[in-house]
This record gives sequence, C-alpha cells and structure tokens, in this order.
Amino acid sequence: MYRPNFIIKWLFPALYRVKGEQSLFFTFDDGPCPETTREILAILRQHNIKATFFVVGENILRYPDLMSEIINEGHQIGNHTMHHTDGFKVSTTEYIRDVEQCQRIIETFTTQQVKIMRPPHGHIRWSEMFRLRKIGYQIVQWDVIAHDWEADRSVESVVDIVHRYSRPGSIIVLHDSHKAAARSIPALRIICDTLSYTTEKSRTSM
Ligand SMILES: [Zn+2]
Repeated sequence: MYRPNFIIKWLFPALYRVKGEQSLFFTFDDGPCPETTREILAILRQHNIKATFFVVGENILRYPDLMSEIINEGHQIGNHTMHHTDGFKVSTTEYIRDVEQCQRIIETFTTQQVKIMRPPHGHIRWSEMFRLRKIGYQIVQWDVIAHDWEADRSVESVVDIVHRYSRPGSIIVLHDSHKAAARSIPALRIICDTLSYTTEKSRTSM
C-alpha cells in the first residue's frame, strides 16, 4: 500500500496531504543517521529543497552535531518519539511520555514553535492521538510512502512509487536511516532531478 486508504484517513484524522498547495512535501524519518542524513542534506541543498525530518530522540542524543546540521540547513524538525516507539505496543501514558521526552530534546536544538509528530510505523491509538492533539501536537502522516526500507526493493521502484502517486500537496515519506540508505539516497537524487514541480522546489516544507 503506497497511499493510505480513506478508511484509515477517516478513522485517524491527521495531516496526510496539504490541500490547496501545489508543492510536494518531502519528509525523512528515523534519523539522524551519519551515513545517510548528510547525503540527503547535500542533495536537498543542491536542489534548494526544504524538507521535514522526523527525528528519533535517541538518535539525536547519539548524533547531536548532525541534528544541528539539519536545523542549520533550514529544515523543519518533527518528533518521531524517543525510541521509535510503536503506539500499539505501549500504554497511552507511556507513549505520551516518550513523545514528550523526544520533544524536550528537540527544543534544546531549535526555537521552532510548531510541534509536529509522526507516529512510528503509522501506529497510533485514538487515545494517544487525542492526548497529543490536546497538548498541542499536530499529527502528520503521509500521502505517499515509497517502502525504501525494504532490502529487496529496487531504487527504480522507489522512484516509480513517488512519481506515480505524488500529486499537489502530497506528503512523501523517505527514510534517512541506515536501513534505507541504499535506496533512499539514489532514489532521492533521481526524484530531485526529475521533479515536475520545479517552480515550487524551495517550498517543500510544511
Ligand atoms: Zn520510523
């Protein structure tokens, strides 16, 4: 499934696509990660694209310099929990605590006012979602997911999914994780070279 269906969207009200926008919104999950994030930043810089990085708290602690680089390049930061926590596997209280722990670390790096959050694996319970919304988080899911973490998927297939399913306002997920690097980095290069949304390239941040 490369695009969430209407039942999921109806059940879990979150941001899937920025309607009324002509831009594409690139998002990168699971970093920062030394082998991957820096390469992704270089490609984005070359194409003058601003993206959103949904970072994992424990990775920020491991690679604080990389976290600063993302921010210094002008990208937006989103919360992807402290431990890449699956919302279906812990209690609501534990989940909120995990998100808040990550947020406190994010806030030591950036003055960004908006609190945006993406649930790892897309898994979030109603109770978790409503609690997070109540304390000011906007939940951001996606319109296009390119399965770049799958080891047996080709770079061409990742590119093809992005080309085929993207539409104005689409929020696209790629990963700057070690696991996805072999696909996400070369795929992003091709995608950026072949974007048909050229005039909006610099506005690809939520
Ligand atoms: Zn993730």
